[in-house]
Amino acid sequence: MKGIVFCISGPSGVGKGTIVKELMRIDPELALSVSCTTRAPRPGEQHGREYFFISQEEFRKKLEGGEFLEYDEHFGNFYGTLKDHVARLADAKKLVILEIDVVGALKAKEYYGTSRKVVNIFIKPPSLEALEERLQKRGSESEQQLRIRRERVKFEYGQADLFDYVVLNDEVARATWEIYDIIQKEKSKQ
Ligand code: 5GP
Repeated sequence: MKGIVFCISGPSGVGKGTIVKELMRIDPELALSVSCTTRAPRPGEQHGREYFFISQEEFRKKLEGGEFLEYDEHFGNFYGTLKDHVARLADAKKLVILEIDVVGALKAKEYYGTSRKVVNIFIKPPSLEALEERLQKRGSESEQQLRIRRERVKFEYGQADLFDYVVLNDEVARATWEIYDIIQKEKSKQ
């Protein structure tokens, strides 16, 4: 059986990180892909666990060396998925999870084409208003930063139709089990 790549995606602030953590806890068969980022680690984050934290210079070198299957910029920081890393996980563990933004998920699917099965799952907030409210509550951003974020969220929200599955994040446990079921269904189709 060839490995399957599952992209867990959705607008920023939708709670995909929490859902992915839960998924990893309930299904030991899943392997989480660790991306590279140029952003600084947050308290408690570890190099090689949440991300490979690298410098802008290192990121540029990897980019020029063609090491990323996709990459994107978020608010001045770069994020990229390593081709070799995903290939190694997919060959060994078969079911690979990418927690990735909306554009990245679409790019990953395009990158693999027919060479590997990629299942794109879009996590949807109960409403666009609820998501905007959450962003506003973070409170750490200037009005201009908030405006940029809102525009991006609106754009990301509008991409749901391009995904294989749309899962409503009305409740973390319920949404997690729905995704778990999708993974089992896709696995049994292989
Ligand atoms: P954070 O800095 O909060 O960890 O992540 C910011 C955003 O970057 C999130 O939407 C996250 O899903 C996305 N992200 C994380 N890794 C990657 C990656 O490798 N590629 C892309 N395109 N987005 C990523």
